[in-house]
Amino acid sequence: MKKKFIIVGLLFAVFGFTKINAQINLGDKAIGALQKGVSGFTFSNADAAKLSKEAVDKLDTENQVASATDPYTLRLNRVFGKHATGEGYTLNFKVYKLKEVNAFATADGSVRVYSGLMDIMDDNELLAVIGHEIGHVANNDSRDAVRAAYQKEALLDGVASQSATVATVTDSQLGKIGSALIDSKHSRKQESEADLFSYNFLKKNGYNVNAEESAFRILAKMSEGSEASFIDQMMSSHPDSKKRADDAKARAEKDGLYKAYIQQKIVNTAPVVKKAAATKKTTAKKK
Ligand SMILES: [Zn+2]
Repeated sequence: MKKKFIIVGLLFAVFGFTKINAQINLGDKAIGALQKGVSGFTFSNADAAKLSKEAVDKLDTENQVASATDPYTLRLNRVFGKHATGEGYTLNFKVYKLKEVNAFATADGSVRVYSGLMDIMDDNELLAVIGHEIGHVANNDSRDAVRAAYQKEALLDGVASQSATVATVTDSQLGKIGSALIDSKHSRKQESEADLFSYNFLKKNGYNVNAEESAFRILAKMSEGSEASFIDQMMSSHPDSKKRADDAKARAEKDGLYKAYIQQKIVNTAPVVKKAAATKKTTAKKK
C-alpha cells in the first residue's frame, strides 16, 4: 500500500515537472526508466568515485573532523595508517568527533570513523570494524550504494532522463546522497562477505582474528543497553550483531585460531608519557 503510494507520487512528480518546465523534455525515457527500475542508467566506477567524493567533502564540512594533531587522529594513523593502500583500493581516512558508534566507507575510498566507535573498541576491534568497511569498498558494495542513492535522488526530482552523468546533482541532492551513504543498506549477503573480508584482513596482517567476534559482541550488548541510541545508525545498517559474532567465532574455530578475546586498553589520548620522557632528556642534555 505504502509502496503504491510512493510510485504514484513519483509519477505525479514527473508529470508535474514536465508541465511546469515545458522546455525540459522528459518524455518516454523517464517513464520507461521508472518502469524498469532505472536499469538504463550509465554510471561508471569513475562516476561513483566522483559523486562519493563530492558527498563526503560536503559531510566533512558539516561534521567536526578531528584535526591532524587530535589524539583520535593520531590513534587512527597509528592503528590504520599502514593499511590505507591495498589491492585495488586507496583509502583516505578521518575521524568525526561524534558520540555515535559508527564508521562508513564510500566508493572513492573515503573512510570516516566516529570517535564514539573509538571510545569502545580497542585497536584490534577497531581494525575489525574498519576491515569490514574496506570490504564494502573492495567488493564494490559502496559503488552500488552511491549509484542507488543517486538514482533515487534523480528520480525524485524527475530528471532521470537527463542525468546520464553525475554533473547535474544539486547541493541539496548531494546532502541527501551523503546521508544515504552513511546509512547504506547493504544486503545480508554483502554484509557477510564484508565480514569475511575483515576476518581475512585481520588474519593476513597477523592480527588476532578473535577481535572480530569481540567487536560484534560489544555492538550486540550495546544494542540491549541504555546506550542503544548511540548505535542506532550502525545497527540499522548492520543488523544481527549477535549472529555475526557467532559467525566470526565459527570462522576462527575452523581455522584453529579461536580463543576468547580479552579487550585491550583503549587509549584515545595523546602519548603523554613519551613527551615527558623527551622533555627529561632535553633537560638532562642542557645540564
Ligand atoms: Zn556493512
